[in-house]
Amino acid sequence: MSLWEKNVRKVIPYTPGEQPDRSDIIKLNTNENPYPPAPGAARILRDMDAEALRKYPDPTAGALVTALSEYYHLPVEQIFVGVGSDDVLAMSFLTFFNGEKPILFPDITYSFYDVWAELYRIPYECQPLDDAFEIHTEDYLKPCGGIVIPNPNAPTGAEKELSELERIIAANPDVIVIIDEAYIDFGGESALSLIPKYDNLLVVQTFSKSRSLAGMRIGYAFGSEKLIKYLNDAKYSFNSYTMNTVTIAMGVEAVKDDVYFQETIQKVVATREWTKKELRRLGFVFQDSKSNFIFASHPVCPAKNLFEALKEHGIYVRYFAKPRIDNYLRISIGTDGEMKALIAFLEKYIGENYG
Ligand code: PMP
Repeated sequence: MSLWEKNVRKVIPYTPGEQPDRSDIIKLNTNENPYPPAPGAARILRDMDAEALRKYPDPTAGALVTALSEYYHLPVEQIFVGVGSDDVLAMSFLTFFNGEKPILFPDITYSFYDVWAELYRIPYECQPLDDAFEIHTEDYLKPCGGIVIPNPNAPTGAEKELSELERIIAANPDVIVIIDEAYIDFGGESALSLIPKYDNLLVVQTFSKSRSLAGMRIGYAFGSEKLIKYLNDAKYSFNSYTMNTVTIAMGVEAVKDDVYFQETIQKVVATREWTKKELRRLGFVFQDSKSNFIFASHPVCPAKNLFEALKEHGIYVRYFAKPRIDNYLRISIGTDGEMKALIAFLEKYIGENYG
């Protein structure tokens, strides 16, 4: 090892899902929305004059913050925006988790949390889910440096009751509690309603799933004015222009079109419920997902075999070769046609090989 290497900030990076450069596959591996973004957002992309890009973007992303403020009925001072919720979460870890006690998050959860903790040298302690993959409130009622809980959880898709989350927030007034609501629009109850009550609560959401804009990278957070100010101070000490001009304009259009937003969500939810019924018929077991994916296991057919067979057949789902979850597949909800093709393949494959 070269001597300079001992000063390198070493980290094992997060592994994102595969993004194959092919259009002939059914892609159910990264929880993207199968429907296009709102027509108004697409129009921005088509009509934007390149001349507008000569200038720096608005560092406050004011138009987008205002659109979110109007939609969610919260003052602009209580809204933070970033380049996807990954950026918002990374900035939040940096800003709020600066104590000596470990921060707490579930052991089976979004696998970026421990990466940020390692990157920033934040001590952390994973709280094990039980065998039914439930998060236990009691695990979060102890002295700690902060808390992160995704609701619904990923990759399980299960929702934790808001009243239970409130117990956790109320019991931890001396640290910041982050509720990561990347999938909340697909049927969960948001902790946004608790913002006026708790100045230590940060609720993080994204345009990547319910608003079909994963490729544009837009995330945002709600919190008390003080909390958002601290977050912005850290952001402006890092990079003033995180959001580009095109993204800001497209984000505004996506927020404005509530009819399209609701319609898209309803379609995804209806397809999810149909898929649950079909998977159950084939013997799969899973928690009741409130997200745009289902985390399923089959009693006789190993998940790894299924994952490989599906891939060979051009259907990509997500498989995690990790303890406790290595017999599960995370299946994103696609269009009706895509899910029908998935079920037809599973039925045939399981029948032929494990029937
Ligand atoms: N939180 C959770 C729980 C997620 O699954 C994801 C998606 N990978 C994110 C945050 C980040 O999403 P994005 O950066 O696209 O907003």
